Amino acid sequence: MNNQQPNRRALLKVLGFGTAISATGIGTAFASKSAADPTSHQVNGSPAPKITKVRSILTAPYGTNLVIVKVETDQDGLYGIGCATFTQRAHTVVSAIDEYINPFCQGKSVSNIEDIWQTAYQSSYWRNGPVLNNALSGLDQALWDIKGKMANMPVYELLGGKVRFAVDAYGHASGKSVEEVLDNIERFKDWGYKNIRIQLGGYGSTHLSKNPAYQEAGFGLASDNTINPIAYKNGTIEIFKKARERFGNDVELLHDMHERLQPMDAIDLLKRVEEYRPFFMEDPLSPENIGWFHQLRQQTSTPIAMGELFNSPHEWLNPMSERLFDFIRIHISQIGGITPAMKVARLGEWFNVRTAWHGPGDTSPVGHAANCHIDLAVWNFGVQEIIRFKEVAHEVFPGTPVIKDGFIHVNEAPGLGIDINESLAKKYPPVVYNYNWTQLRTNSGTPVRP
Ligand code: MG
Repeated sequence: MNNQQPNRRALLKVLGFGTAISATGIGTAFASKSAADPTSHQVNGSPAPKITKVRSILTAPYGTNLVIVKVETDQDGLYGIGCATFTQRAHTVVSAIDEYINPFCQGKSVSNIEDIWQTAYQSSYWRNGPVLNNALSGLDQALWDIKGKMANMPVYELLGGKVRFAVDAYGHASGKSVEEVLDNIERFKDWGYKNIRIQLGGYGSTHLSKNPAYQEAGFGLASDNTINPIAYKNGTIEIFKKARERFGNDVELLHDMHERLQPMDAIDLLKRVEEYRPFFMEDPLSPENIGWFHQLRQQTSTPIAMGELFNSPHEWLNPMSERLFDFIRIHISQIGGITPAMKVARLGEWFNVRTAWHGPGDTSPVGHAANCHIDLAVWNFGVQEIIRFKEVAHEVFPGTPVIKDGFIHVNEAPGLGIDINESLAKKYPPVVYNYNWTQLRTNSGTPVRP
């Protein structure tokens, strides 16, 4: 007992309560304060900062529309940023932030992240879809950024601290021919990557489908993409086979099927690549085809990554408890931010399902930083997708995570460790979204999910 007293006093001092408060008084001090006025929450002996404004910043420094949320407070110099990017509907998210999230948040304490998340989530009554969850993601990440700055700690410390020194990355080695794919794998290996995603001819090997019948008949647009499922299946098996022949087991190989095959074709492909030991095969089927995963799991041990298109954190409950997937592909800037992503990550721990957060070019560097802070702190982390950021990304977003020898390192500054240079961001106005990528058809012109 005697040993505990000085330690507790020291703790109170660190927390800023001073030595005048008795060691036994801390609990009651908080209890009576909050009972009298639940909004007068104090941090380090001072009233918690309040939100004065939430606003969007829309910028396209490397040709992709990125939506950033900035949360400003009544404390000089204290603000946070988060990623709300939904590049295909960027202006709609901007409206959700500026016209709805901003007035909703003004005057609220920055401290109560869970409370703000839950109340903002239900404030529209109709909830839990893309756009609104993107806006919520940006707000949530910005509040975690602020909390880290207030605690003078990186966000990963607030999530429990590191369970690994850095984040295992995977990069994209694509090519229009098998040889080009293999040469790109070599490049990534030279850069130090241990995990490499391989794609022949983009998603679904669309370059292999020339002069489709629908275009010759004047149906659809010349810019539409066409998939030949058999060419895609055979091409994918070929790159796995050739990659294993050339690189042995020296590297982990990943692939994104992008939900483009019919269920039996998808199962067939997963069975045939099994012998080449993929680290995972991603999105073998669309979310609309979730029922097929039961049949799929009974026929192959190829690991499955799934879920970048899930909009709601609740969509994870059944697939997790039924052990339908091996990797969680949540897009954190889409599903509601760090708060719900942490809940799904913890759920995954109980079912031995690992995280592999979505990390494409249309997640901003701020979103990538948020991904990596969670990666550092959760035990059931698997791997992190990342792009090779152009120099302009580091200029507009100082503190952008860096990749070294196949590992991602976050900036260790308090919060998310990343900022935005707003005057520079203004020099890269939004671009007109190109719908080409999502327009995919069969030979006769039937639309295929992208
Ligand atoms: Mg994907």
